[in-house]
Amino acid sequence: MKKLVALFCIVYALSACSIVPLTGRSQLTIFTTQDLMPLVKEEYNESLTESKVLTSTEEGQEIVKVGNKMAEVVEAYLIEQGYDSLVSELDWEFNLLENEEVNAWCMPGGKVAFYTGILPFTRDETGIAVIMGHELAHAVANHSGERMSQEILMELGVGSIDLAMGQDPTLTQEILLLSIGLASNLKILSFSRKHELEADRMGLIFMAMAGYDPREAPAFWERMAEDSEEDGFDFLSTHPGPSRRIERLNSLMPEAIAIYEQSKGLK
Ligand SMILES: [Zn+2]
Repeated sequence: MKKLVALFCIVYALSACSIVPLTGRSQLTIFTTQDLMPLVKEEYNESLTESKVLTSTEEGQEIVKVGNKMAEVVEAYLIEQGYDSLVSELDWEFNLLENEEVNAWCMPGGKVAFYTGILPFTRDETGIAVIMGHELAHAVANHSGERMSQEILMELGVGSIDLAMGQDPTLTQEILLLSIGLASNLKILSFSRKHELEADRMGLIFMAMAGYDPREAPAFWERMAEDSEEDGFDFLSTHPGPSRRIERLNSLMPEAIAIYEQSKGLK
């Protein structure tokens, strides 16, 4: 029986593959964005009660403006590429929270938070777009769902699957998520290097599509790198080192600049 269950999991896992928009990478997704949404809504709302929400301030409204502008462009691109069902799963929300950590994050489905601590580095609308593009990319690529799916396959004992099977599907998913201790950990879920670099690549293209100069992305990381020598930043501790990112971003720059110029009607 246990072998049968294990076989079922493998077959199920293989059938639960999807293709990441823009990069074309195939990924394992036992959990779709929709599966994660009940947990996300709960945790996102909790985050909004833990910090002072500054979304109605001038700085907060700039984040909302950039977020909405970019989300609109990204959704149009996804629909054009045939990702209609993915678009229907996205439920964007943008907030600025009072927190001195130099950080920003995005929960599955597009629940974004910027901390006030990152604003001295983003500086202006284009700087916000650098981080926004990266965060939107995590949601579009369902990196959380992929990460959880990988954890399940690596860590889950067949016994838990035995327990979970036969229950109703929602409950099954909750048991699976709880069993790997990720359910209450969405915002600090650390992504792999591969996910981070993929989010950088997608974010660079997204900002260019929305009419923001992509050359500001490596410039932003330069600023972060300069200050991080004195101070260990939270964003950097959960993300790859700036020099590696800058190198990668520059290698993608010709493509990004072409998209940017097209979006501005320069070509
Ligand atoms: Zn990231």
